[in-house]
Amino acid sequence: MANIRSTTPTPRNEPVLGYAPGSPERSTLITELKRQAGTRVEIPLVIGEKKILNAKTEHKVVSPHKHAHQLATYTAATAEDVQAAIQSNLAARKEWAALNWEDRAAVFLKAAELLAGKYRPVINAATMLGQSKTSHQAEIDAACELIDFFRFNVHFAERIYSEQPQSAPGMWNRSEARGLEGFVYAVCPFNFTSIAINLPTAPALMGCSVLWKPAPTSLLSAYVGMQVLEEAGLPPGVINLVVGDPAVISSVALAHPDLAGIHFTGSTGVFNMLWKTVGQNIDRYKTYPRLVGETGGKDFVFAHPSANAQELVTGLIRGAFEFQGQKCSAASRAYIPKSLWPAVKDGLVATAEQIKVGDPADFSNFMGAVIDQKAFHKIKGYIDDAKQSKDARIIFGGDCDDKVGYFIQPTIIEALDPHYRSMREEIFGPVLTLYVYDDAKLDETLALCDTSSPYALTGAIYARDRRVIAHMTRALEHSAGNFYINDKPTGAVVGQQPFGGGRASGTNDKAGSIWNLLRWCSHRTIKETFHPITDFRYAYMENGGSA
Ligand code: NAD
Repeated sequence: MANIRSTTPTPRNEPVLGYAPGSPERSTLITELKRQAGTRVEIPLVIGEKKILNAKTEHKVVSPHKHAHQLATYTAATAEDVQAAIQSNLAARKEWAALNWEDRAAVFLKAAELLAGKYRPVINAATMLGQSKTSHQAEIDAACELIDFFRFNVHFAERIYSEQPQSAPGMWNRSEARGLEGFVYAVCPFNFTSIAINLPTAPALMGCSVLWKPAPTSLLSAYVGMQVLEEAGLPPGVINLVVGDPAVISSVALAHPDLAGIHFTGSTGVFNMLWKTVGQNIDRYKTYPRLVGETGGKDFVFAHPSANAQELVTGLIRGAFEFQGQKCSAASRAYIPKSLWPAVKDGLVATAEQIKVGDPADFSNFMGAVIDQKAFHKIKGYIDDAKQSKDARIIFGGDCDDKVGYFIQPTIIEALDPHYRSMREEIFGPVLTLYVYDDAKLDETLALCDTSSPYALTGAIYARDRRVIAHMTRALEHSAGNFYINDKPTGAVVGQQPFGGGRASGTNDKAGSIWNLLRWCSHRTIKETFHPITDFRYAYMENGGSA
């Protein structure tokens, strides 16, 4: 359709379904959980039209809360497979980029409808079984946030394409937002199905082709995403799915002259390594690769003596323990004034006692298991350290059991030293460390909060006095990219709280916003003159330059 100036459907956040007892969505989800639990999926590499299965490089996908339960097998890519995937990306790119942007947008609008409809229980069940999310955590991530990414990104793309320069008389200036030449390498974390699928699809919407590397531990839901995109009409080769040894995949992708960008979410260490490798290879590339990385966090909650203790307790419990604390935004350190501490401590312990941990298919559970054995041992290490340290004491939880699944009870540590390691380092598990400060030392403690961790992803303050809120907001200006006032630091919604942090937490390109999409296009400015000049001389040169 060439003769049209389209406007995209106005995006609205997908309503979150409640899964209350007796609700139709709950019974559909339970049926789907049983179906998937009884199936073993074979996850292939997806390279252009080809679905490659290779028994020789096969690995298992298991349920974190029942690690004896194998959900799927996947084929690990060899270096040759990765080369083939990149060639296929490059072959598909031109035609994809040359489509009207509305045609690309329609693929993702259709995918949003599929996810809101028949695929909703499928992707939610895959996220519950494969990543150990409860029905609510799966619903807000795999269904709603992903649908929101698709619908809002289409709207943001429209705004980018309509942003045009001025034209002086006799000319027409235009700005064309071209998709990047080459391929984008999308490397994903395990913890959000929506992020894992947004990382390849945001650049694809803007006309890029993408080599997509999901985390092996979230492959079950990622592969549902691939199937949704295919059903929505995404042409083969625009997004190729490769998984396997990340070092092998990265060594091919980062050495390739056509690398146009990296869209990464994961830990700071891995992103630093990717960035360094790009630096070492800089002379090989045809273009400067765009580097977008959202990385680790040590997210804080800072309470003022004027805070409401009950609101604070609820914010801490939900912020720290939902999805087992494996959200990049999870509250993992808190600063509590001495005057509030007795009420807060009693409230935290009383609430944490009510939390049930177990299989998310049992709807009475608030928490599932942590993702894998490596995460289990890392988190347990921090808890064991607190058990024997003179600088810390455990005030709730501390039990870890990996016999059936990788279960860790919600754990609350009181740090006696504000620089104790669990106040500074990212743990990525259900562990909240608190430091109780002297009410008279507000400013010193704000400075501690600002400086004691290298990260700056999310943070929350709780206070009632407006002057104090303004003061704390200023003092913590660079401590968080997503800052909350009297609310928990998790639960950012696409289109409402664009997400990302600074310092060691990433490039802060704000996933789910127009700013992120700008990184996946390169503008061509077009000036067309309607009165081309015919004389090289300027007015000041007339009459031979004499007065
Ligand atoms: P991770 O860094 O261990 O893994 C992320 C991805 O990098 C995975 O796909 C992994 O296979 C891959 N990877 C590992 N080594 C690699 C290599 N040599 N080359 C290429 N890829 C490699 O992170 P994770 O455990 O999956 O996720 C948790 C981390 O992600 C936490 O640090 C968390 O804070 C962060 N996170 C940040 C955000 C954010 O928006 N800032 C969102 C979600 C998660």
